Amino acid sequence: SPTLRNPEQWCRSFSYFISQCLIKDFEARPSVTHLLEHPFIKQAHGKDVALRQQLAALIQEGIIMSLTSYRHERINTRKTLIIQSCPDDDLVNLEFLDEETIICHLQKRYDELQVYTYVGDILIALNPFQNLSIYSPQFSKLYHGVKRADNPPHIFATADAAYQGMVTFCKDQCIIISGESGAGKTESAHLIVQHLTFLGKANNRSLREKILQVNPLVEAFGNACTAINDNSSRFGKYLEMKFTPTGAVIGAKISEYLLEKSRVIKQAVGEKNFHIFYYIYAGLYHQNKLKAYRLPEGTPPRFVLENCKVMQDIVSGKLYKEQFDAIQECFRNIGFTEEEVNSVYRILSAILNTGNIEFAAITSQHQTDKSEVPNSEALESAASLLSIGPEELQEALTSQCVVTRGETIIRTNTVDKAADVRDAMSKALYGRLFSWIVNRINSLLHSSSNAAESCMNVGILDIFGFENFKKNSFEQLCINIANEQIQFYFNQHIFALEQMEYQSEGVDASLVEYEDNRPILDMFLQKPMGLLSLLDEESRFPQATDQTLVDKFEDNLRCKYFWIPKRVELCFGIQHYAGKVMYDVNGFLEKNRDTLPADIVVVLRTSENKLLQQLFSSPLTKTVMFLACVWPVHRCGVFTVNVCVQVDTMEMMRHPEETTNMRRQTVASYFRYSLMDLLSKMVVGQPHFVRCIKPNDDRQALRFCKERVMVQLRYTGILETVNIRRQGYSHRILFEEFVNRYYYLAFRAHQMPETSKENAVAILQRAKLEDWVLGKTKVFLKYYHVEQLNLLLREVI
Ligand code: ADP
Ligand code: MG
Repeated sequence: SPTLRNPEQWCRSFSYFISQCLIKDFEARPSVTHLLEHPFIKQAHGKDVALRQQLAALIQEGIIMSLTSYRHERINTRKTLIIQSCPDDDLVNLEFLDEETIICHLQKRYDELQVYTYVGDILIALNPFQNLSIYSPQFSKLYHGVKRADNPPHIFATADAAYQGMVTFCKDQCIIISGESGAGKTESAHLIVQHLTFLGKANNRSLREKILQVNPLVEAFGNACTAINDNSSRFGKYLEMKFTPTGAVIGAKISEYLLEKSRVIKQAVGEKNFHIFYYIYAGLYHQNKLKAYRLPEGTPPRFVLENCKVMQDIVSGKLYKEQFDAIQECFRNIGFTEEEVNSVYRILSAILNTGNIEFAAITSQHQTDKSEVPNSEALESAASLLSIGPEELQEALTSQCVVTRGETIIRTNTVDKAADVRDAMSKALYGRLFSWIVNRINSLLHSSSNAAESCMNVGILDIFGFENFKKNSFEQLCINIANEQIQFYFNQHIFALEQMEYQSEGVDASLVEYEDNRPILDMFLQKPMGLLSLLDEESRFPQATDQTLVDKFEDNLRCKYFWIPKRVELCFGIQHYAGKVMYDVNGFLEKNRDTLPADIVVVLRTSENKLLQQLFSSPLTKTVMFLACVWPVHRCGVFTVNVCVQVDTMEMMRHPEETTNMRRQTVASYFRYSLMDLLSKMVVGQPHFVRCIKPNDDRQALRFCKERVMVQLRYTGILETVNIRRQGYSHRILFEEFVNRYYYLAFRAHQMPETSKENAVAILQRAKLEDWVLGKTKVFLKYYHVEQLNLLLREVI
């Protein structure tokens, strides 16, 4: 029960009450009369009916969010309602900036369902693990075009800031969402798209629908159920929304990074394959089309068997079927033709059938290493769905053509080798199908109007966070390098901002230092001696093994961030910005080569299916964006961040099967290119950061696990940001405010000294503080200065 003796507590309980009102009963809000008589409001304002009325009306109008920071004292002293955000909406305003205070503060807010908090211009988003009613169109309106301080922190405010920045300064913007799996990145990305479509006045209803359907469609193919998250994104995504200079939305473009193709052929215990496989299975089952797509009706195909042991696991229950219907709707709305959609289903069914192809050794006297397919049904189904001959497919799976010194020799594949080829083909089919879908969406959402030429973008990056598992492989290495790069960009930005404030106040900026992760990035990306280059070099030697790779690393990588542990084989350690990770090198070379035998490509190219021909004929989908070798220079106020990256254009265009004179494209080189491509987009835009945090591992609402949050705050660089501020002058207080606050320390109570720079200095000297600096309008203080001043103040008063 609220008590007025403690305004702060009252305020907190009040906001809790409001949020409960919202959650339970948003549509049917309490009436004004009801609110007027509500004990809570009565207790707060007693006989002051006018004030009560004002408050009730505001609640009625839905400006409720603002009231979460409604401050009781202000209302009493001025007799007016002042709606503003609390100082504690922003961690930077906290007087004590140590880890414990920050965590407690976030916990307090989380308990009150305040899931968003600012750190300067960064938004921290704690996953609420429950539906909040703060994302309706009323909230979009509330956050539209207002000052940030007018409302409590919100993801819409970040989207709005990006939009306003774009329209006002005619500058591209990018919103970088990071956090670990299940922290809420993808949900945040959806909410941003929702608010931006609202702001972009997408009058054209069909365009708005199309844009809103891009995410669900792409996610059906790129997301899967994992141990951590039922809808985990298994690829990185950069969605650019395109606007006219006046801010009307005209289209969207999506780029995908590092799809986890290996999931197609194998899923960890308790995990599932990409959603789409279950959707089509259930959908086609309910349409009685399993036969037409040659999908087995008994035991589910091997690729979806993990976690779905019997057909009923997939086809019973409405969820998958409904999702299938929704996906069909997305395809139709976005503009895919019936024929295209049909081809997509055929390829997906072909992949499922390919997974069921088995191999058995033929052990006649002369041929010991040969294999054949004993279950011709799966082979024939796959071939038929791919519109290729079954014999040709069997041939390509069980043997390979090798050209040596002008002669063509046919080598037979062992059972294991044939299974590898089958898996490689399944992965390639899925990977290319995914890229094709993304590109097709882009061409369908590409605006051909004149406006497209002068359009501006807001890009939204939703990318996997830092990973550190018991066993970390090549995939984790790529993901962590990507995070390392994003962290570098983040640091540059924060640091640059900090420098700007110093410069504008005329304070020496060299006083600020921070931990730079540039040396680690160089260790990975430098040519020719960086880790990725060494990996590529070793991948080109047919005789190389994972052991020779480790030896190569050991011989060439000499820095404190890399080490080979003793007594553990095929392993190396990296000191990432977010912590130590041990990598298991088993399979590194093979994963990097990602070979798809030429024989498979040749046979797939003979397909009569137009889509399949397309997937395997043209060089891969990525367009080469820049031929220049030097990056655009990113200017950030007075501080120039020079990002120079060598981009080998030949490398980008290389394609696995084009092996004649070129070196094969490896995953590492393609990855390096993707990373550069992504960064090139980021550096030209004005960045906005959203750091998603997972408060607990049980996906429970209102459960805040301090240790888990602490670790993530470190990973995401929040604590580092706070550290940067701590090392520098974390408190910058206007002279006026400073004198008002501390004049007791140097003047008598009745003196009311002028709020000037001189008087500020007088106070500082009297308090015997050291190391403070004066700017043009502010006193620059270290974090401990404020503690000292407050202590003194308490003594004097
Ligand atoms: P990530 O993309 O970081 O792996 P997701 O965005 O998929 O995580 O979020 C995981 C789950 O957390 C979602 O499926 C949803 O249940 C919940 N969640 C995340 N953000 C919100 C939110 N703002 N409101 C309600 N639930 C959320
Ligand atoms: Mg996600």
